[in-house]
Amino acid sequence: MKINRLPKDDKTNGWSAILPKRRAHDPVKGDVAADWVVLGGGYAGLAAARRLAENRPDDKIVLIEAGEAGENASGRNSGFGIDLPHNVGSSLDELDGSHRFMRLARMALDHLEGVVETHGVGCDWRRAGKYHTAVSPRGTREVLEPFAKELEALGEPFEWVEGEALRGKLGSPHFTAGVYTPGCVLMNPAALCRGLADTLPENVTVFENAPVLEAGFQNGVHLTTAGGSVRAPKMIMAANGFSEQFGFHPRRFLHLIAHASLTRPLTEAERAEFGVEQAWGLTPANAFAGITMRYTEDHRILIRQGLSYRPNQRIGANEQAQVQARHKALFDARFPMLKGVEMAHTWSGFVCLSRNGAPAFGPLAPNIWSAVCQNAVGVTKGTFGGILAADLACGRDNPLIADMESLGAPDILPPRPFLDLGVRARFQWELFTNRHEA
Ligand SMILES: Cc1cc2nc3c(=O)[nH]c(=O)nc-3n(C[C@H](O)[C@H](O)[C@H](O)COP(=O)(O)OP(=O)(O)OC[C@H]3O[C@@H](n4cnc5c(N)ncnc54)[C@H](O)[C@@H]3O)c2cc1C
Repeated sequence: MKINRLPKDDKTNGWSAILPKRRAHDPVKGDVAADWVVLGGGYAGLAAARRLAENRPDDKIVLIEAGEAGENASGRNSGFGIDLPHNVGSSLDELDGSHRFMRLARMALDHLEGVVETHGVGCDWRRAGKYHTAVSPRGTREVLEPFAKELEALGEPFEWVEGEALRGKLGSPHFTAGVYTPGCVLMNPAALCRGLADTLPENVTVFENAPVLEAGFQNGVHLTTAGGSVRAPKMIMAANGFSEQFGFHPRRFLHLIAHASLTRPLTEAERAEFGVEQAWGLTPANAFAGITMRYTEDHRILIRQGLSYRPNQRIGANEQAQVQARHKALFDARFPMLKGVEMAHTWSGFVCLSRNGAPAFGPLAPNIWSAVCQNAVGVTKGTFGGILAADLACGRDNPLIADMESLGAPDILPPRPFLDLGVRARFQWELFTNRHEA
């Protein structure tokens, strides 16, 4: 089978632009035989490869990646390792579901932290927590107050912060109130991905800049790249939304594009004006209308805003210049004291959602397992999906597999163009009804 759509790296990722240069692993040369192949080098593939290597120390594992570690969606994200569900709900069933998600997410964060500490991965990893913030009294009433009650029901610690106290923490007068939860990790995601790829156990061979152009699944797995091929009896599919191109998960995924910008570091004088020393992260009460932001350890501000439907998984020609101008205007409105600070980097990335928010996890075909569809929470969901797919594939007993399976499977989507019309209308509606949170 020929692979028609490949990932494209436009080399705009700000998180990697601020890091030292890295030498990527070589692409495939000649014909390579292995016991396992992992397709995709994001959080899911990196976690799956590491876990396979631990489960089967005598097996040869190959990880094959179209681009370079840290340049894909995993390295382009906002760098939040999320430990709590976005929507908790209050019924017993919903609370039970939240507890299952938290067990999985915290296992993933502990796993990543273990790698960061063991190998000294320099990625500004910190359990900094995050603020969930509203900009209007309505957002406070309709989102934050119920969220605080749900956290109480879950027995999770949180702090309600508002007014001057919140302004003091964030350095912006823009927000009405926030719920601070302490369990979220903040990091440079490109540095984390590089570190994960460069510290894999010895029985893992990584190939980068090796897009798979053809795939065959008769008598084992056979993946062909421009420079050679990989053959293995077993595979873990970790190409997220691109797994569709391999004939898997048809009509299950919604592809969205998300945009982010990072300022240059604030000068000493600007930092004094800003008045905040501690790095922070915030997520908006409404994910469509609101803005995700961070103040980083190296004194930059991240703006992540704009989420739209993009079934062709491609960035438009002049799109980033327009996004940058919009991000700058949003930045100025939130930080009027920092008007001279430019956006040094603007980039975009793709997220893969299912209609019902479920992951595409588990057996796909004899000897092929799936760890895809992270529903925009890939740091934790990709990591636990990858680990548990490896355990499932190796027959390793792990009670968290049952938690994972309880998250369900992606619902089928209506056919296009009805899907396109429906999704675009829904996005417009979300933006309109939540405009008070913009
Ligand atoms: C701007 C932005 C902000 C985000 N913020 C956050 C956040 O703060 N926290 C969070 O948890 N999530 C966030 N997300 C979502 C998160 O980045 C994704 O959910 C996550 O990266 C998915 O991980 P993955 O390993 O499944 O997929 P990916 O990172 O997409 O990895 C899949 C890999 O498969 C490879 N591949 C595909 N096709 C082929 C082929 N033919 N041959 C070889 N390789 C192939 C790709 O090159 C890619 O590297 C954000 C996303 C974006 C875009």
